[in-house]
Order: sequence, then structure tokens, then C-alpha cells
Amino acid sequence: MELAQRVQNLPPYLFAEIDAMIAEAKAKKVDVISFGIGDPDQPTPRHIVNKAIEAIQDPNTHSYPSYIGMYSFRKAIADFYQKRFGVSLDPDKEVLALIGTKEGIAHLPWCILNPGDIALVPDPAYPVYKTATILCNATPYMMPLLKENDFLPDLDEIDHQIAKKAKLMFLNYPNNPTGAVATREFFEEVIQFAYEYDIIVAHDAAYSEIAFDGYQPLSILEIPRAKEIAVEFYSLSKTYNMTGWRIGALVGNAEIVNALGRIKTNVDSGIFEAVQYAGIEALTGPQNSVDEINDLYKRRRDLVLSYLKELGWPVQPNKATFYVWLPVPKGYTSEEFSKEVFKKTGVFFTPGIGYGKYGEGYVRLSLTVSEDRIKEAFQRIKDSGIRYSS
Ligand SMILES: *Cc1c(COP(=O)(O)O)cnc(C)c1O
Repeated sequence: MELAQRVQNLPPYLFAEIDAMIAEAKAKKVDVISFGIGDPDQPTPRHIVNKAIEAIQDPNTHSYPSYIGMYSFRKAIADFYQKRFGVSLDPDKEVLALIGTKEGIAHLPWCILNPGDIALVPDPAYPVYKTATILCNATPYMMPLLKENDFLPDLDEIDHQIAKKAKLMFLNYPNNPTGAVATREFFEEVIQFAYEYDIIVAHDAAYSEIAFDGYQPLSILEIPRAKEIAVEFYSLSKTYNMTGWRIGALVGNAEIVNALGRIKTNVDSGIFEAVQYAGIEALTGPQNSVDEINDLYKRRRDLVLSYLKELGWPVQPNKATFYVWLPVPKGYTSEEFSKEVFKKTGVFFTPGIGYGKYGEGYVRLSLTVSEDRIKEAFQRIKDSGIRYSS
């Protein structure tokens, strides 16, 4: 048996070995504390769950849903964008429901890339941008996210010939894994660049509502004329602790929204309507859970940073996301450091190399661990003698 080239071209799953290492330790009764989980540890707010229970009992929700999402869900997304970002969207033409944004990110390149085409992809990054490009038999061109550029890609560094050939650019701010945020000036530069080279911009806003210290993340659609060339992925997963429900949306340029809708009509049959009712409740119901979850992440962030400072680490507080992006001490690769910490303490940090070549030299800590467990983890690290050195 020979599998298709596109499957053979997929990069190996780096975390497979790590998962095995953690499973082995757990089998040996090691009390593992994992900072590797990019999934909220808190439950979905009660009023959202209750709405889903009510909806699931109504037989009207039991049939095939609409391919593009219920009008009331698309309208709730549009109203949210108006209120939150001052961006107006036509629920019929500029909003498409997704079975989680990951699904949309994975299918979007099918609308834009022919075999051999180029997509500009950030590195380090959420792996799906690159793999979805590869699955189209197109070529990802990596844009390094470097500390000296505040983890924003340097558009001037993109080869002119590559930029001319590129058809799609993926971006993600607030950023996973670096915790970086984009300025309005940067988004303006991106839109200008995209016009100049005729590139479609796909911005992943999965963490747009996870922010602290008064900082409010931007939508790329706030930039004038962005809608002519850009789309944005909006996810309910992180904001409302709904990762398991699978609901999100693509918004922005009508032609691309329509194209992805046509692809999806041939691939899936929509989102369970009870889940869409839960999504409407999340977007239009009380929002105090969002403030509470951000307060919780902020307390955890501050606790983690105070320990890191004690251990000599030079880290700036992240303004958004629930990730801390930590340089590894001198003399280690990210994988070596992650393994060393794990072997000595049972505490797991994700090696940055798992997010791309330019993630080397860093580990990612998720703030999805309780304050008690954070204290326990850093007590073990202190006792083990692990410290930062540059
Ligand atoms: C979690 C995450 C997603 C996935 O969101 P879903 O809507 O649950 O599919 C997308 N992008 C990034 C960067 C993420 O971290």
C-alpha cells in the first residue's frame, strides 16, 4: 500500500514522543503537572450549558442543520463584531459558521491555493496553517517571528519574488505560542502589503477576548478596506471555555466566505443546532464570565512571572492569551530543557521547536493550571536547582 503524497508530505508529529514520555511517567505514578495544555481548565459558563440543554430537548434541532449556519447565529456574530470592534458585517454574505476555527483554517487553503502556490506562514505558529497548505500540495514560506521584532513578521524581509507569487498569508494575534499582540500600525502595514502583492490575508483571532491590564486586542477588519482582501477566524473556544463544543466563524471578504461555504457544503453538514443556540447564548448573554476568566488567567500569569523572576528569568508580562513564552537557559535546546525539567520535577513545559524552527530556544507555558498546582510546580523547580542563565 502506498499512501498519497500529501499524507507523506505531512511533517512528523513532534509531540508523539513527548506524549509517550508523559504517559510513561504517569504509569509510574509520577504526579505530573503539565503546562502543555492549550485548553481552558474551567467549565463552560452555566447559562450557556443550560441553553444547550433546552435546545437539545427540542426535536427541531435534531435534523441536518444549515450548511452555512443558522441566520440567528451568523447575526449574533455580526452584532458582536459591530459592538466589540465597530466592524459591520452582513450576516448573509460575510459570516460563515465553522465547526471550530481549526476546521475553517484547514479548509480555507482549498479556496485559494493551487498546487505549487505559495502561502506565507508564521513560524513559530499553530501548526495547522502549514499543514493545511501542504495538504493542498502548495508550499508554505515561513515568516520568522523574532523577539527583536516583538514576534511580528518583518514584511520587508519577505523576498520580493516570493511575495509576488504568494496568494495567502496567515497571521494570528494575540499569538499562540508567543503571547505577542499586534499593533494597529502592523495591521495597516499588512493590509498595504497584501494590496501591493494581491495576497489574501487570513487572520486567526482565537484569543481576541483573552487579554489583561486593560488591553483590548484588535480585529484586522478594523483597518480601512481590510474587508476587500482579508478574512478573520473568530472562535468561541477560548473565550467561553467551549473547546469541546466545536463552534466558530469565518468573517470578512464575501467572496472568500462564499468560496469556503461551497467547499464545506461538499465536506460537512453544518454544526448541531443545539450547539449553535449555545453559541448565540455565549455571544449575546451575560459577559461577566469573560471578565472572570481573564482575571483568573491574570492571577496565574502574575504568580508564574513572580516565580520566574525569582529564578532569574527575563520575561515581560504577556498582554493577551493564556501563554507565557519563556527563553530556555543557555546550553539547552528547547527539547532538552523540557525533558530536563520533566525528569527532575514531573513538570512539563512545551518545547518551542514543536511550533516551528524559530520556536527553538523557547518553551511555552499554558496558564491552564490552578494556582495551587503552579505553586507546587515552581516549588519543585526551585528545589531542583533549575535556574535561568543567559
Ligand atoms: C485554540 C486555537 C484554535 C482552535 O480553535 P477552535 O475554534 O477550537 O478550532 C485556532 N487557532 C489558534 C491559534 C488556537 O490556539
